[in-house]
Amino acid sequence: MTYKLGILKGDDIGLEVVPVAVQVMKEALAKFPEVKVEWVDLPIGYTSYLDTGETFPDATFNKLKELTGWILGPIGHMAYPKNDPKAINPHPIIRRVFDMYSNIRPSRSYPNVKSVHKDVDLVVVRENNEGFQPDRNMFKGTGEFMPNPDLAMSVRVISRRNSMAVAETAFQLAMERKKKVTAIHKNTVFKLGCGLFVECCRQVAERYPEVEFDELIVDSAAAALVMKPQKYDVLVTTNMFGDILSDLTSGLVGGLGMAPGLCVGGEYSMAQATHGSAPDIAGKQIANPYAMVMSGKMLLEWLGVKHKDPALLQASKLIEESVERVFAKGIMTRDLGGNASTNEMGEAICREINEQFSGVQS
Ligand code: ATP
Repeated sequence: MTYKLGILKGDDIGLEVVPVAVQVMKEALAKFPEVKVEWVDLPIGYTSYLDTGETFPDATFNKLKELTGWILGPIGHMAYPKNDPKAINPHPIIRRVFDMYSNIRPSRSYPNVKSVHKDVDLVVVRENNEGFQPDRNMFKGTGEFMPNPDLAMSVRVISRRNSMAVAETAFQLAMERKKKVTAIHKNTVFKLGCGLFVECCRQVAERYPEVEFDELIVDSAAAALVMKPQKYDVLVTTNMFGDILSDLTSGLVGGLGMAPGLCVGGEYSMAQATHGSAPDIAGKQIANPYAMVMSGKMLLEWLGVKHKDPALLQASKLIEESVERVFAKGIMTRDLGGNASTNEMGEAICREINEQFSGVQS
C-alpha cells in the first residue's frame, strides 16, 4: 500500500518544528524503500487564514478523509481574529470528527538531559473528545453555558463507548510495554462519571490478565507522580485529568519540549505534540523539536502495528535510537540547557539516522 501522510504545520513554533519532524521521518523512511509514502501538504491555521481567509478550509478537511494519518503542528488560536467565524480553532474539530478518542502522551527521561527525575518511562492515555472539554463534548452547542451573567456551568460528559475505547488503547499499549495500567479517577466524588469510567477500565482489564491493573484517585496521583514516577507504566484517565497530568509528567522529564503525543481512533491517527504554539519563542529557532519529532515517530509506529508493517516499525525505532544518541552526545536545545537551534537538532538526528543505518548495513 501507499501511506498517504499529511503535513499541517499549524502556527508559531509549528512552522519550525513540523518541518524538522517531517525531515527526520523522511530520512528514516528513505532507509526502507519498500515503504511507499505520499506526503500531502495541507493549509491550516493563521498562514492559511492569510492565504484563503479560513483557518480550516473545506479543502483541507476533505483531503484529511483520504489520508492514512497526518502530523499537525500546534495551533495558536488565541491570536486568531475574534468574531470571524472563519477563524476557528481546527484541532478540537479534527479530533472529534475523525473520532480520535485516545490521546497518547509519553514522558521519558534521558540520562544526559536535565530533569526532575531519572528513569522515567510512562505514558498518559487520555480520553480525547468528551469530559469537561466544552469545545467537543456536545453534538451541537457547547458544554459550557451561562444561565445568567453571574452563573457559569460546565458539563462533563463520560460515555461508556469512549471509556471502553480509551481503556482498550491503554491496555494494548501496555502489552507492548511494561504490562501495567493504572486508572486515574475521582470516583469518591464523581460517583457516576468517574464510576462509569472505572467500571469500563475494570471490564477491559479482565480481558488482559497479563497486564497488572490498579487504580488511583487523581489527587493522590498528582503527588505520587511527582514523588515516584518510576513506578508507573501506562496511566489511563478522563480528558481533563489527562490534560493536566500529562503536562505535569512532561515537567518531570524536561518540560513541554519533551512532550510528544498521538491522537488515535479506530481509523485515523494524528501526530500532535502536547505543547501549544509557544508564540513567545516562535521564529527564533530555539524551539525544541523533540516533541514533534517523537510524535512523528509514534505515528509511524502506530501505523506499523496497525498495518503489520515491520519496515515502519524499524523506521520508528531508527528515529528513537537516533534521538537517544543525539542527546547522549550532549546536543540539545536551549530549554534543555544546550545551544543547538531547532534545525541543528533536526540535522543532528538525521546524521545519526545515516550513521546508525550504515552501521547496520556493514
Ligand atoms: P496551549 O494552551 O495551546 O497548550 P500554552 O499556553 O499551554 O499552550 P505553550 O504554547 O504550550 O503554552 O507553551 C508554554 C511555554 O512552554 C512556552 O512559552 C515556551 O516557553 C515553552 N515551550 C512550549 N513548547 C516548547 C518547545 N517545543 N520548545 C521549547 N519550549 C517550549
